[in-house]
Amino acid sequence: NKKHFQISQQAVEKLAVRFGTPLLVLSLEEIKKNYKVLKKYMPRVKIHYAIKANPHPEILRVMADMGSCFDVASDGEIRTMHDMGVDGGRLIYANPVKTGVGLEACRSCGVRKMTFDSASEIDKIKKQCPDATVLLRLRIDNSSAHVDLNKKFGAARENALALMQQAKEAGLDMAGIAFHVGSQTVSADPYLHALDIARELFEEAEAAGLKLRILDVGGGFPIPEPKVKFNLPEMLRQINARLDEDFADAEIWAEPGRYICGTAVNLITSVIGVTERGGQPWYFLNEGLYGTFSGVLFDQWDFKLISFREGEEKVAATFAGPSCDSLDIMFRGRLTVPLQVGDLLLVPSCGAYTSASATTFNGFSKAKFVIWERVKAEVEPVAAVGRVEMNQSV
Ligand code: PLP
Repeated sequence: NKKHFQISQQAVEKLAVRFGTPLLVLSLEEIKKNYKVLKKYMPRVKIHYAIKANPHPEILRVMADMGSCFDVASDGEIRTMHDMGVDGGRLIYANPVKTGVGLEACRSCGVRKMTFDSASEIDKIKKQCPDATVLLRLRIDNSSAHVDLNKKFGAARENALALMQQAKEAGLDMAGIAFHVGSQTVSADPYLHALDIARELFEEAEAAGLKLRILDVGGGFPIPEPKVKFNLPEMLRQINARLDEDFADAEIWAEPGRYICGTAVNLITSVIGVTERGGQPWYFLNEGLYGTFSGVLFDQWDFKLISFREGEEKVAATFAGPSCDSLDIMFRGRLTVPLQVGDLLLVPSCGAYTSASATTFNGFSKAKFVIWERVKAEVEPVAAVGRVEMNQSV
């Protein structure tokens, strides 16, 4: 994980003094690096950044400047990109169940590409965006995914051809197939399985007089996590080889969210309260489940906590957020060196599905952001990394 963006103890301390905590430190260089990695291993893939993962305006700007396209899920996301001056032709409305205002935003912002997975959606699209280019979102069962989106979305394989024919008959530009194998998928297998089904459907459609030309492999590309090992370059190589073999003539799209932004943000949070319950220490932080750690709940993510205290034996502790709600507990039985009020903790790789779902519940402000590349010269003359990691639970 050292290859990924992680600020030093010195930077943590200086930034905390200068800006206060909780503080989110965003590296735009890491965003660029992540985009380039996907482009390197899958050069034919047209990347559509899924902005729901982290819609920070600076991330959107950097991605737009590098030529990325975008996956948008709502009228709000469509208008955000439109207001930034990004052409509607670079967006895909990839929410299979669309709202009336979403389709209206497509019309007014020039968004024509969208996914669907049911007959009722065809009727809606036909009424509001009759010149749409549509991709059928296919259901891909993948129980190994960290977040399995196929429980909610996707047409069953047996209904796929009929739905595509129906879309064509409705006058829509029925252009291809989309899938999402599930977020944080750590092996190529679910993608290869999905590609097998998509290949069959491309052939069946062609035999039925429907020539498909776009394949959208969705998101799901993983970032390092404490307890799971995987080989991303190898995984991407396998997917890319299969794309070249079976979809040489198709345009290939992807919708990565987590992979682009996940490793690009570090959180600095402070211990604001210490107590003991049932013989275990409890640490209250000034960032909680209603803030950046909303990913614990909504994304089932197990964040790594780094303390800079040394030399003491680790104990199993509970970490809670600052609100008055008893739900606001992030980690139980987490091994840590004993902490004190005022200690700073560093949480690396917390850019995806974190601040995007944070709230101001109880009146706590959302954690502010600083851009690492704009502050690093002042706070980090020499590079170093954190020492004591607390990513084990008992
Ligand atoms: N595309 C769609 C349609 C999604 O629903 C999501 C996530 O919910 C993504 C892309 C991004 O997925 P990930 O962050 O796993 O890359």
